[in-house]
Amino acid sequence: MNKETRGAAEERPSYKNTLNLLQTSFGMRANAVTREPELQSFWAEHGIDFKLGVTNKGPTFTLHDGPPYANGALHMGHALNKVLKDIVNKHQILKGRRVRFVPGWDCHGLPIELKVLQSMDQEQRQALTPIKLRKKAAAYARKQVEGQMKGFQRWGIWADWDQPYLSLQKDYEAAQIRVFGDMVLKGHIYRGLKPVHWSPSSRTALAEAELEYPDGHTSPSVYATFPAVELPAVLRDALQTDGIVLPSQAEELGKTLHVAIWTTTPWTLPANLAVSVNERLDYALADDGSGRLLLVAADLIESLSGTLALPLKRKATVKGALLAGLIYRHPLLDRTSPIVIGGEYITTESGTGLVHTAPGHGVDDFHTGQKNGLPVLCPVDEAGTLTEEAGPFAGLNVLKDANPAIIEALQQADALLKHEPYGHRYPYDWRTKKPTIFRATEQWFASIDGFRDDALDAIDKVNWTPASGRNRIESMVKERGDWCISRQRTWGVPIPVFYNRTNGEVLLNADTLAHIQGLIADHGADVWWEKEESELLPAAYASEADQWRKGTDTMDVWFDSGSSWAAVASQRDNLSYPADLYLEGSDQHRGWFQSSLLTSVAVNGHAPYQRVLTHGFALDEKGRKMSKSLGNVVDPMVIIAGGKNQKQDPPYGADVLRLWVSSVDYSADVPIGAGILRQLADVYRKVRNTSRYLLGNLHDFNPSRDGIPVHELPLLDRWMLQRSAEVMDDVNAAFENFEFYRFFQLLQNYCVSDLSNFYLDIAKDRLYVSAPDDRRRRSCQTVMALIIERLAGLIAPVLCHMAEDIWQNLPYPVAHTSVFQNGWPSVPADWRDPALTAPVQQLRQLRTAVNKVLEDCRNQQELGASLEAAVRLEAHSPELQTALQWLDEHGDAEVDGLRDWLLVSQLQIGGEPWAELLASQDNEQALIEVAHARGSKCSRCWHYEADVGQHADHPDLCGRCIEVLKRGDYQLA
Ligand SMILES: [Zn+2]
Repeated sequence: MNKETRGAAEERPSYKNTLNLLQTSFGMRANAVTREPELQSFWAEHGIDFKLGVTNKGPTFTLHDGPPYANGALHMGHALNKVLKDIVNKHQILKGRRVRFVPGWDCHGLPIELKVLQSMDQEQRQALTPIKLRKKAAAYARKQVEGQMKGFQRWGIWADWDQPYLSLQKDYEAAQIRVFGDMVLKGHIYRGLKPVHWSPSSRTALAEAELEYPDGHTSPSVYATFPAVELPAVLRDALQTDGIVLPSQAEELGKTLHVAIWTTTPWTLPANLAVSVNERLDYALADDGSGRLLLVAADLIESLSGTLALPLKRKATVKGALLAGLIYRHPLLDRTSPIVIGGEYITTESGTGLVHTAPGHGVDDFHTGQKNGLPVLCPVDEAGTLTEEAGPFAGLNVLKDANPAIIEALQQADALLKHEPYGHRYPYDWRTKKPTIFRATEQWFASIDGFRDDALDAIDKVNWTPASGRNRIESMVKERGDWCISRQRTWGVPIPVFYNRTNGEVLLNADTLAHIQGLIADHGADVWWEKEESELLPAAYASEADQWRKGTDTMDVWFDSGSSWAAVASQRDNLSYPADLYLEGSDQHRGWFQSSLLTSVAVNGHAPYQRVLTHGFALDEKGRKMSKSLGNVVDPMVIIAGGKNQKQDPPYGADVLRLWVSSVDYSADVPIGAGILRQLADVYRKVRNTSRYLLGNLHDFNPSRDGIPVHELPLLDRWMLQRSAEVMDDVNAAFENFEFYRFFQLLQNYCVSDLSNFYLDIAKDRLYVSAPDDRRRRSCQTVMALIIERLAGLIAPVLCHMAEDIWQNLPYPVAHTSVFQNGWPSVPADWRDPALTAPVQQLRQLRTAVNKVLEDCRNQQELGASLEAAVRLEAHSPELQTALQWLDEHGDAEVDGLRDWLLVSQLQIGGEPWAELLASQDNEQALIEVAHARGSKCSRCWHYEADVGQHADHPDLCGRCIEVLKRGDYQLA
């Protein structure tokens, strides 16, 4: 539309000065690389950012930031997350809520510790004390925070950047110790020897959230036999009833009856202390063809015959309950162990139905062991090496040479039925990408059973978006075991506990906790490493300080971030706890959402949030994960500033990045790539050009001087306001419901379909050709001014830079310096007139049909501009007839002429059919006939009129244009 207008002006230089052409400083191109930082500086200068949110008088709205890890460059995941949060916050600020967004960072933990260690040579590492390591790690984390913060700021994110929360800050660490202390005093924290996920490669325990399950893991699985040496009397009696009499002497029995087990971790066999059965399953004594009897689940006889290539034949069947107390001999070590009753985890889905049980190396095994009074044997050290307790296997590594050696030993002992590689899900250390093991160690635990029911109640009260999130976290909390919160690392918050140097007794009470919390509040957690026991213990213990040794464990980093509600939301000004909203990736149901829930429920009995919103992950355009090896990584900074090759990766600016975030259905994983960016840039340009057209036609307009009251506006203008009211209602609902993709669709449709292709297309004639102060022009400008101010407000949460740019380019004085001070647009009551919708809908439909016929003529080279056409209509449908009559009766003579709405020079409704037609179309709504317009073309307005040529002064103008020239004081070129 702009192009055509400019072209028209060039063709008719003599009347150019008499047309009202676009004038605006609002650029056609965003020039985002320079303009966006300028607008950000403008906000900073005027306190139009998070400061605006804090000074708002409305009720508090707290979106509590989930802390990203302070390591590495920002990626699209960060962009999706932080921009979503910013859209929510800006919308709330515009609505007048008091919003203080405190950005956070998770700063402790192994990756940073490793970064520091990797930066040093062997010698430096030798000289490294824990406190030196901590200082270096802190410096590293702070630098990373600084870098990430700059990136977030460039995206237009508003936050309290001067006072972020970092999990390494003194007040944060002290709050975390308080959470830990409260849990201790409520009896939720205990120390125990328990199998935990252990990473030999990191030499530390890991939480569930620190594990990943890569594809393609295989384990060496073995079927092995353990010779029976003693049968319980009830079993012997039961077998006798079946006519089976087994030798009573151990040696002989061991040659006859064997317990068959299956395991995928042969290295745990030295730790075997029992075989577990399900008391409700049937077990069979099956002849293997050589007279030897194998004890296996009855249901598995057939499949095991195949797997083991043995002609298994059932001799007798007994209930699992009868097997308890059967004693077998360990095939590799000199000891005997019992069959015990396990639980429902023992099934006939795989294996033999009898489960090799090593209480030191499995959670089910541990619980079965506890139930049956078995010790917790763990003959594996922190590096994964078998210890002396593993007998002949001592010194072998469980992830390297232990398995082959043990399989070989089984073979030698004639205890191996079969071994084969077995592919299954297996937990790896998410940082080192190496397999983990289950290993029993002395660890600190949070006992979930103490508050599991409260946690489930709390989950019930939270609003989960999407709703599926509720089921996810509920089942996780229902099924999870106790939370191992201790780590054997240096870079973290200490577990503030003392151990008796002689007997290992633990010192941990209200007194010691309060004292250490105070020290950490004053000095930070480094104090734990800097000071001696005598200084760390409260005064009451000073005399016995030499008896106590401070612990060396740090807390799981999930405990750090899981305490952020205590350190931030409930502690800082202008924030609320529970927070209104937590908003993170859907993986946080087992991460931060859960750790925050558990600590908050344990301490205060309720969730730390009222609503939890989750989003998926950013994938490439083909739906694949982004990875360096695939070369499909999209860098948010390249989207903003452009890549090395600016043709291939143009600088789109932060608003296009933000528009992408608004456009996606974030409840699932979301794609991004060059093609999607081009489409988004196109939508961005459409919104920008529509805005520019509105601004450019307001250069001589001042609403207070030239505006026309809404109720006096022509039908078309009032319809435009009614339509805008509908769009505003829908956009408002989209934001309220966090359905930003709906905003994106509504915005696009409004700018392109309602404004650009309809209202503004028709308005061209009113705007350019009329005298500047013609009522038909001023009424249109009234609507345009009303719309552009509100459009700027509606797009401000997402396209914040463009919105402000529009506001700064409004050509008349306004009350507020910034679009954000102007607030969230509300619909004035006098805009609403639903009665306009139906008839205009009919006329728009007609217009589309007419345009189609004109387009066909144009394609056949029979017509140029639509103004070269005359149209004759016969309305068929009653709806159209009503609409035409309505327009005729109520329409404004100068604006609401259907001829002008159709952009043709002549229109005839009904009457005699025309002789010479270019084209016609008959549909259910109307008959449409198109002919060449009669008369001559006016050089100024391009209309074909009969009166062109009748005026001596301007023989190339129509009467209407001559009137305009008479009124104005134009200098014709
Ligand atoms: Zn004219």
